Amino acid sequence: VNKLLRFDSLFDSSSWYAPAFVVLDGSGRVLSISSTKPNPILSEKTISGIAIPGFVNAHSHAFQFAMAGMTENLSQGSEADDFWSWRDKMYGLATTLKPEEIADVSRACFAQMLRNGYTSVCEFHYIHHQPGGAEYSKISEVSEAVIEAALEVGIDISLVPILYQTGDVGQPPGDRQKRFIFNDFERFVRMIEDLGSRYRTKSGVAIGVGAHSLRAVPPGPLKELVEFARRNDQQFHIHISEQVREVETVRKAYGQTPIRWFMDQFGGDLKVNLVHATHADADEISLMAKAGVNVVLCPSTEGDLGDGLFSIADFHSKEGLWSIGSDSNLVIDPWYEIRSIDFAERMRLRRRSIICAPGEEAGESIFKRIHRSAKKIRHDLELGMAVGARFDALVLNSEHHAVAGVAPKHLLSALLYAGQPQMIAGRVLGDVFTGVEVMDQAVARQMSPVSRLRRGRWS
Ligand SMILES: [Zn+2]
Repeated sequence: VNKLLRFDSLFDSSSWYAPAFVVLDGSGRVLSISSTKPNPILSEKTISGIAIPGFVNAHSHAFQFAMAGMTENLSQGSEADDFWSWRDKMYGLATTLKPEEIADVSRACFAQMLRNGYTSVCEFHYIHHQPGGAEYSKISEVSEAVIEAALEVGIDISLVPILYQTGDVGQPPGDRQKRFIFNDFERFVRMIEDLGSRYRTKSGVAIGVGAHSLRAVPPGPLKELVEFARRNDQQFHIHISEQVREVETVRKAYGQTPIRWFMDQFGGDLKVNLVHATHADADEISLMAKAGVNVVLCPSTEGDLGDGLFSIADFHSKEGLWSIGSDSNLVIDPWYEIRSIDFAERMRLRRRSIICAPGEEAGESIFKRIHRSAKKIRHDLELGMAVGARFDALVLNSEHHAVAGVAPKHLLSALLYAGQPQMIAGRVLGDVFTGVEVMDQAVARQMSPVSRLRRGRWS
């Protein structure tokens, strides 16, 4: 039996409908969206508020949520803190978490993502083995724990198992990187294939593939991995240009900057996601935009770690595809990520309205771009408002101060620039509405083991 949902208004990532009538089939898939009531009349369920597609979190390391806020200090005796000293602290956590603790932290982190507006996440996953490097009896033990955590919480997940082989360009891995290492490439891809076949029919799960960085994977295996991803039509993710030191190391070893080298080697593969393309120069900005690769920006983490600034105005004006990621999960707030990208660039350029063309609303330009990228990233997962997709929408309170009384033409900008996760009233999946109070309870429930873990480790 078909079902009819009615919203005050709905933005499907290209058009507005007000009011909006969504017809779903018996399994909650979209048959049509329109602003006029369809015939024949179905019994309708009214959900008050503004419906928009959920945000895609294109880059996360859920386990790092366990240490959020606990590295904001200069260690006794040290003169400066930077990405590399932060990484030492992060390794302290990564080398000691048990699989069940990773599952606990992932559940809490994913529940918080859902509460704050992300309805899907790409989890860049590299904790594969036991702390000393020995495999678990089931090689995909930790990968599966993370996927199951997402399923339990109800967030869509693209698990991206990550190949990690060297400690830095041409360097053997350190003791604290042993958990991440797959020396046997065949074993690594077999694990990915196993995960793929296990979760193929599972709604809300996709398996991608990735390399940690040019620091961690030599050219030979990297080439094999990119080819593997292409052959299997999988999304490919890599940290590409996060730190100046890494750019210099790669330049010395390969004679080119990491972005230039990667693009020269692998070109514009449509399913490539370059995470932290932070240090792209003007030529690289054009190259990536033209090739249609997806650039993943994580401004809260990039700011926290002092990485640098990406030239978003230039990239966006060249039609570059970009997404946001919560990365270290210090901040879990899509509104914050998007605004941070824009505001940092405004401060650098000392100009306003830099992520839109003349005559365009910035909010609309950004929404359309990130949803074009989302369509690409989610590949075998469907976007929640396309015909045939399982309906998935965030419902925003239309009386929230950011949007109350705002004319339709300014609504997307008001929503993005003045809004915040507190304007979320709930989520609709299929025809089931989950209110924000229920989501808050889920967060509280999932946080309790994480609170215990934090108390035990950082008291
Ligand atoms: Zn990352």
